[in-house]
Amino acid sequence: MPCPARKPGGSVMVSVRFCGAVGEVTGSGYWIETDQARVLVDFGMFQGGRDSEGRNRVIEPVEPRRLAACALTHAHIDHSGRLPLLAAHGAKGAVYGTPATLELAEVLLLDSAKIAEEDTARANRRLRRAARREQSPLYTVDDVEALMRRFVPLPYGEQREIAPGIAIRLFDAGHILGSSSVEMCIERTGAQALTVVFSGDLGAHDAPILRDPETPPKADVVFLESTYGDRSRPARADVVAGFHALLRRAVSERRRMIVPAFAVGRTQVLLYELAHAFREGVVPSFPVFLDSPMAARAGAIYARHGELHEQDARRLGRRGQLPDTLRVVESAAESKLLNASNEFCMILSAAGMCEGGRVLHHLRHNLWREDVMVILPGYMAPGTVGRALAEGAREVEILGETIAVRAEVIQLEGFSAHADREGLLDWLAPLVPGSPRVVLTHGEDAARSALAAAIQHRFALAAETPVAGAVLTLA
Ligand SMILES: [Zn+2]
Ligand SMILES: [Zn+2]
Repeated sequence: MPCPARKPGGSVMVSVRFCGAVGEVTGSGYWIETDQARVLVDFGMFQGGRDSEGRNRVIEPVEPRRLAACALTHAHIDHSGRLPLLAAHGAKGAVYGTPATLELAEVLLLDSAKIAEEDTARANRRLRRAARREQSPLYTVDDVEALMRRFVPLPYGEQREIAPGIAIRLFDAGHILGSSSVEMCIERTGAQALTVVFSGDLGAHDAPILRDPETPPKADVVFLESTYGDRSRPARADVVAGFHALLRRAVSERRRMIVPAFAVGRTQVLLYELAHAFREGVVPSFPVFLDSPMAARAGAIYARHGELHEQDARRLGRRGQLPDTLRVVESAAESKLLNASNEFCMILSAAGMCEGGRVLHHLRHNLWREDVMVILPGYMAPGTVGRALAEGAREVEILGETIAVRAEVIQLEGFSAHADREGLLDWLAPLVPGSPRVVLTHGEDAARSALAAAIQHRFALAAETPVAGAVLTLA
């Protein structure tokens, strides 16, 4: 169903402001104001960089008490991570997302609150000894639970009015389980309803487990992500062949492999590829440890939503998607034991950008060793330990300790959960005949400008690259 046509009593004014993710990839959030209501699409955390802690506490331009509803594109913390803050500031609006998104968000947000509480407790012990003022955590588990009571599942393809004069519909974005693009229809006085599409994070075509991203049928305005707007990815078969070759080398050199990976998305894809490689016999099998309780919980949610998987994954089922040699590390004690042993194996652990979580302990114990291979399978934001490793740092600071980097560090290209430049252009293509206004977000500036140039070149369409603080008038 398209947007409802001409209705009396709609809005005259529609504006959008950015909460983050302009000229950078983290902190996604759009604050949309009409004459009738105020709604949000995403409200994510800033990650990496010294000032992210402070920026996360700035709620503007959002006015929590005036928020009617929020649409959440997907569970990743850079899209969902600051929603509990709104609950803490008295927001009462419902949060809409696909059922899988809300289940994953629950896991990620509870973990995020726990980390915030632990970090603050540690910082406060130091502040107390220095007789300085103590801090409060960004938010607490209670705030997350208050937010969860406002979760309203919305399956793909169903249109729902979320606020007066504002209806949304979700489309599969193929990025992580449950991820979606949001089509927002805004009624206007004396004019056709305005259709605004928020791409959210878009996945790659032919990525394993998930279905390909789908483009909503029509848009007057498109907010398009641009994470890899300046990059083309090699063909999937080449990426997988390269991964197999790397694994065979690690096996022949007996190099222990440490893989920092996002708990949601990347980990499930890597396990899937390992299972495939072992089953086909193209790589001799070896022990694989999954040392991330959150990734294990996310894996269970992936398994529960087989209806969202693409055909091959559905045929394989849960067992076929995991290597036979997989061992899930439950307790922190087991995790420590793993560090003490020199067993040849692969350790998959979060956090993906090496900014926290159990992977820090594995890096501390292994980075300085020459018989280790660190495999980085994803995007690393500036200012993170992961980025420093990717850029060839000879030493890094981990848990307050300087660690030499003697391990071989490999950046694994092609395993990103994001569409590359061609993928973004292909997703946009069906909307082009309607001559939409295209606004590029969620990308570092180099990537955004490259994508803008590519859109101009392929579609003769000028895309905008707004700055933080900009107010976009859509009607
Ligand atoms: Zn994402
Ligand atoms: Zn994102």
